[in-house]
Amino acid sequence: MLESIAIFMDYGQIKYLKIKGGIGVAKQMRCVICDYVYDETIGDPENGVAPGTVWENVPEDWVCPLCYVGKDQFEEI
Ligand SMILES: [Zn+2]
Repeated sequence: MLESIAIFMDYGQIKYLKIKGGIGVAKQMRCVICDYVYDETIGDPENGVAPGTVWENVPEDWVCPLCYVGKDQFEEI
Protein backbone atom coordinates (compact mmCIF):
# COMPACT_ATOMS: atom_id res chain seq x y z
CA MET A 1 0.00 0.00 0.00
CA LEU A 2 1.29 3.43 -0.87
CA GLU A 3 2.10 5.89 1.85
CA SER A 4 0.84 9.39 1.49
CA ILE A 5 1.53 12.67 3.23
CA ALA A 6 -0.88 15.55 3.42
CA ILE A 7 0.11 18.95 4.75
CA PHE A 8 -2.53 21.37 5.96
CA MET A 9 -2.44 24.94 7.19
CA ASP A 10 -4.43 25.50 10.36
CA TYR A 11 -4.30 28.97 11.88
CA GLY A 12 -0.69 29.38 10.88
CA GLN A 13 0.43 25.99 12.06
CA ILE A 14 1.45 23.27 9.68
CA LYS A 15 0.06 19.89 10.53
CA TYR A 16 1.59 16.81 9.03
CA LEU A 17 -0.55 13.80 8.52
CA LYS A 18 0.97 10.56 7.38
CA ILE A 19 -0.55 7.14 7.19
CA LYS A 20 1.35 3.95 7.95
CA GLY A 21 4.15 5.97 9.44
CA GLY A 22 5.38 7.95 12.37
CA ILE A 23 4.95 11.56 11.35
CA GLY A 24 2.33 13.85 12.77
CA VAL A 25 -0.99 13.39 14.36
CA ALA A 26 -3.04 11.48 11.84
CA LYS A 27 -5.25 8.76 13.28
CA GLN A 28 -7.23 5.91 11.88
CA MET A 29 -10.54 5.09 13.49
CA ARG A 30 -12.26 1.75 12.98
CA CYS A 31 -15.96 1.07 13.11
CA VAL A 32 -16.48 -1.65 15.70
CA ILE A 33 -19.56 -2.86 13.85
CA CYS A 34 -18.33 -3.33 10.28
CA ASP A 35 -14.56 -2.64 10.39
CA TYR A 36 -14.81 0.40 8.12
CA VAL A 37 -11.73 2.56 8.73
CA TYR A 38 -11.82 6.34 8.79
CA ASP A 39 -8.39 7.71 7.91
CA GLU A 40 -7.76 11.37 8.69
CA THR A 41 -5.58 11.83 5.62
CA ILE A 42 -8.34 10.51 3.39
CA GLY A 43 -11.45 11.77 5.12
CA ASP A 44 -14.79 10.80 3.64
CA PRO A 45 -15.19 13.14 0.65
CA GLU A 46 -18.34 11.41 -0.59
CA ASN A 47 -20.04 12.41 2.65
CA GLY A 48 -18.67 15.92 2.96
CA VAL A 49 -15.60 15.23 5.10
CA ALA A 50 -12.53 16.60 3.36
CA PRO A 51 -9.18 14.79 3.33
CA GLY A 52 -7.13 15.89 6.31
CA THR A 53 -10.10 16.27 8.63
CA VAL A 54 -9.00 15.10 12.06
CA TRP A 55 -11.40 12.84 13.90
CA GLU A 56 -12.32 15.51 16.43
CA ASN A 57 -13.49 17.75 13.59
CA VAL A 58 -15.65 15.17 11.89
CA PRO A 59 -19.25 16.35 12.43
CA GLU A 60 -21.02 14.68 15.32
CA ASP A 61 -23.85 13.72 12.96
CA TRP A 62 -21.47 11.94 10.60
CA VAL A 63 -22.22 8.23 10.41
CA CYS A 64 -20.34 5.20 9.18
CA PRO A 65 -20.83 5.09 5.40
CA LEU A 66 -21.25 1.33 5.48
CA CYS A 67 -23.44 0.58 8.47
CA TYR A 68 -24.64 4.05 9.57
CA VAL A 69 -23.66 3.95 13.21
CA GLY A 70 -22.41 7.12 14.89
CA LYS A 71 -18.92 8.26 15.85
CA ASP A 72 -19.27 6.70 19.32
CA GLN A 73 -19.01 3.28 17.67
CA PHE A 74 -15.47 3.94 16.42
CA GLU A 75 -12.25 3.03 18.16
CA GLU A 76 -8.72 4.22 17.47
CA ILE A 77 -6.49 1.73 15.70
ZN1 LIG B 1 -19.64 0.69 10.22
